[in-house]
Amino acid sequence: MEDHKKKAQVSKRFEGKVAIVTASTQGIGFGIALRLGLEGASLVISSRKQKNVDDAVEKLKGEGIEVFGLVCHVSNKEHRKNLIEKAIEKYGRLDVVVSNAAANPSVDSILEMKEPVLDKLWDINVKASILLLQDAAPHMKNGSSVVIISSIAGYKPDPPLSMYSVTKTALFGLTKALAAEMAPDTRVNCVAPGFVPTNFASFLTNNDDIRKDFEEKTMLNRLGTTEDMAAATAFLASDDASYITGETVVVAGGMQSRL
Ligand code: NAP
Repeated sequence: MEDHKKKAQVSKRFEGKVAIVTASTQGIGFGIALRLGLEGASLVISSRKQKNVDDAVEKLKGEGIEVFGLVCHVSNKEHRKNLIEKAIEKYGRLDVVVSNAAANPSVDSILEMKEPVLDKLWDINVKASILLLQDAAPHMKNGSSVVIISSIAGYKPDPPLSMYSVTKTALFGLTKALAAEMAPDTRVNCVAPGFVPTNFASFLTNNDDIRKDFEEKTMLNRLGTTEDMAAATAFLASDDASYITGETVVVAGGMQSRL
């Protein structure tokens, strides 16, 4: 939090702007919301559980951030519609959408994965972003931007995350395709985080051996932080990146991704 505050003090890139961040009551999504808020954005945060939403809103308000929160399970059509409608009702504009939600319901190999699990992966990790942006796009005017949160795993679909990784690979393509569709008014970019010790990754990062292995796979010899991911997302969402669209920024301490 202190790191965020120091960096946000030097820039207020989102003053007068409105940002929606999905799955933003914990982890990377919360870190992104905090950074955008500290830089002046009015925020709409959300996740599946009301209690998590209330707690996160309170923390952000405690930082002096203008924010409201609501329940939005990203694969629920009414929730997504409500998220966009309430944002427009309250703030009258929409400048930034960060699509951050993902699920990893199984560690089965792809050939053994049950059809409902495949459906869930597709629904939450890919389709929900598309449907959310279909609702958001009519409100996004010139100078607006979208950031999609993928994963370094999208470049290297290793077990036990193989199918999850494939959905993250799809987001690289989705970023390019939507960047073309939403240009020139809205830029669309993607962040591919390395490993960050959040709840989502705890089954990997809580194991000392696996954690050490991940650290050694980076050039910087450490896991990522939510602040690292938030800084890259804020850059891409801001006017500092006004000539960047359709790109993926890997934020993984030098872990092998693409050349
Ligand atoms: P996290 O710390 O576990 O936080 C997940 C957040 O998402 C919580 O606020 C949760 O709140 C919400 N959420 C979960 N399912 C949701 C749904 N269906 N609809 C709406 N909200 C939902 O996770 P994280 O590590 O920050 O992951 C965030 C993103 O980063 C994901 O896209 C993930 O794939 C990506 N990523 C993470 C890592 C990593 O190492 N952590 C690496 C690469 C990419 P509720 O429980 O209240 O819904």
